[in-house]
Amino acid sequence: MSAYPHLLQPLTIAGVTLPNRMVMGAMHTRLETMDRPVERLTAFYAERAKGGIAFMLTGGYSPVPEGVMDEGGLVLNDRSQLSDHQHITHAVRQAGGHIVLQILHAGRYAKVAQCVAPSSGKARINVHAPRALTTQEVWSTIDSYAHTAALAQEAGYAGVEIMGSEGYLINEFTAALTNRRDDEFGGDFDRRVRFPLEIVKAVRARVSRDFMVVYRISSIDLMEGGMTGAEVAELARRVQSAGADLLNVGVGWHESAVPTMAASVPRAAWRHAVRNIKQAVTIPVMASNRINTPEVAEDLLASGTADLVSMARPLLADPAFANKTREGRADEINTCIGCNQACLDHIFTERVATCLVNPRAGRELDWDDDPAAVPQRVVVVGGGAAGMAFSLEAARRGHAVTLLEAGPELGGQLNLAKQVPGKQEFHDMLRHFRVALARAGVQVQLGVKAQAPELVARIQAGEFDAVVVATGVTPRTPDLDGAHHPKVVSYADVLGQGAPVGQRVAIVGAGGIGFDVAEYLVCQSDESTQPARFMQIWGVDDTLQTPGGLQPAQAPAPTRQVQMFQRKPGTLGKHLGKSTGWILKAKLRRAQVEMTAGVTYQRIDDAGLHYQVDGETRVAQVDTVVMCAGQQSQRSLYDELVALGVQAHLIGGAQEAAELDALRAIQQGMQLASEWSQAATQ
Ligand code: NAP
Ligand code: SF4
Repeated sequence: MSAYPHLLQPLTIAGVTLPNRMVMGAMHTRLETMDRPVERLTAFYAERAKGGIAFMLTGGYSPVPEGVMDEGGLVLNDRSQLSDHQHITHAVRQAGGHIVLQILHAGRYAKVAQCVAPSSGKARINVHAPRALTTQEVWSTIDSYAHTAALAQEAGYAGVEIMGSEGYLINEFTAALTNRRDDEFGGDFDRRVRFPLEIVKAVRARVSRDFMVVYRISSIDLMEGGMTGAEVAELARRVQSAGADLLNVGVGWHESAVPTMAASVPRAAWRHAVRNIKQAVTIPVMASNRINTPEVAEDLLASGTADLVSMARPLLADPAFANKTREGRADEINTCIGCNQACLDHIFTERVATCLVNPRAGRELDWDDDPAAVPQRVVVVGGGAAGMAFSLEAARRGHAVTLLEAGPELGGQLNLAKQVPGKQEFHDMLRHFRVALARAGVQVQLGVKAQAPELVARIQAGEFDAVVVATGVTPRTPDLDGAHHPKVVSYADVLGQGAPVGQRVAIVGAGGIGFDVAEYLVCQSDESTQPARFMQIWGVDDTLQTPGGLQPAQAPAPTRQVQMFQRKPGTLGKHLGKSTGWILKAKLRRAQVEMTAGVTYQRIDDAGLHYQVDGETRVAQVDTVVMCAGQQSQRSLYDELVALGVQAHLIGGAQEAAELDALRAIQQGMQLASEWSQAATQ
């Protein structure tokens, strides 16, 4: 019997019979901004349909031009647009899947000058202030939702999802915070929820009974002035009566001060908010947010919390998630690590989404899967992100790969990341690599420090045709008086070796790793693994009695005094991820971590770290100084090989240490394997 009996049970909703309970949630990709957008979207969705998912939701399409996410954003409001959509829906059906179009009016989050909302009042996260809709305009907006739904049915979609959460237009109507109207769409609860109910009724009236009408409900607004749990439950009941077939559960607004889906949120943290809705209705309920493994998903269904699970980012990370679950190959799933680095952070900075663990996501047309016509015997030195990614891609294409790693385990710098509270998901990334490398037939040899003369001899003996050097980086030790003082340790000593760190700490360098180390030193890991602890620390009322589900946060007293330094002027942490940096900075603020920019380091001695700032000399009296001052390439093996006449390939941090992150390392490893295989076929 399968380990996931609930997840694999079929379900019929409206006229659509779903083979299982795994759904790909809506996600904006910005693929439409690339060349050949329709082909790209078609390939993106078709690949996921082939992966066995029950159904997919598109990114949001606005029913009116003023409701788009940003300039040039997606709209579906005219029959002339249908042929592009038909291309997509046809390909998905051919692949055996179903696709549902999400209708999203961004309201005051629309990054366009003509944005509208129930009432005036700018969102914290938008530069544009909205204009309040007139009563007549509200009625015509309702009609536009119905029009878009009818077009979606004509285009061949299996249904529509009406986006009613995350702080977009509908949610702005339901919350008193953003709805200060006094017409039939504002005032008391009944009038505030009228807008979504009229939309559901209008949509239902315009589409056939076998067309799925999904409503995404805001289960907990996480905004002061948001709805209480009782109001959410009542809205859920009324949405059901208005004709919805399925409720998808959204969490928080985009401007909430509580994280809802980053890796620092425990897996399935929002189950209490899902349960509140499940208990209120008889139609199926779909859970979402921080569900990234079949185990977590199965548990939500088996416990009766939800009937389906929605996973958006996990399907970016692994399009075959559902098939692997069904075929008993769940350990092969390329797990989404909740980093947001290549998906949401790309979207928020006007780039096209892809995925850190799967750079093929959104680039399906640019990567072939062709096997190499001339398989080679390759030795790869270094089992960090770049070395593992190259080895896996090369082995999949038919090359015989031997991977040599000097350390006792694969992973390189990823093994440091996994120690940071809120980055525990890196364990699953490493598990995926270990399993996938083994299944692809890569010969992994741990504890083997490759030497150039020996490698050359093996190449000359015909054992290998080629060598790839991915020997990574070493922490940079700044040229600073006292840099070798006993109280100085590197980030690798702390995260990798568990080097002891005193109560008073100075961190030299405030890049991603400086922030990671600060988090490691002041935060407890249970806040990102235990939902109850997370709710307490972030001030979430898990009884759902307060408006918006907020209550005063109960932060633990800081366990260490930590000071962070950088030489550059300006705010520390400016280059952290757009969607996660604010979370990290909030955690460090809570732990009273001091941050000083524009310093000149002078020396380190028994008294601590001496530095100058604003012309004044100061001493940070600390027990430990942690060096987080970047990295240097480890390329001596490569240089020796070249000197011995072997033209090796150099990738990852060994090639260029500056600003190397896991995304670039994985992308580069895969890219080399792909180009190489293509060259070998010519
Ligand atoms: P980094 O981002 O380059 O930061 C290095 C820090 O060291 C800077 O703050 C720099 O600031 C300082 N520094 C550089 N040379 C120095 C010197 N000679 N003496 C003293 N200070 C010096 O490198 P990283 O923090 O090691 O991170 C490595 C890569 O991993 C980066 O690409 C980073 O984006 C990525 N990463 C990202 C995250 C995340 O986004 N959460 C987490 C971990 C790692 P000043 O020069 O101003 O002093
Ligand atoms: Fe998940 Fe990170 Fe990939 Fe986004 S980039 S889908 S969060 S692994």
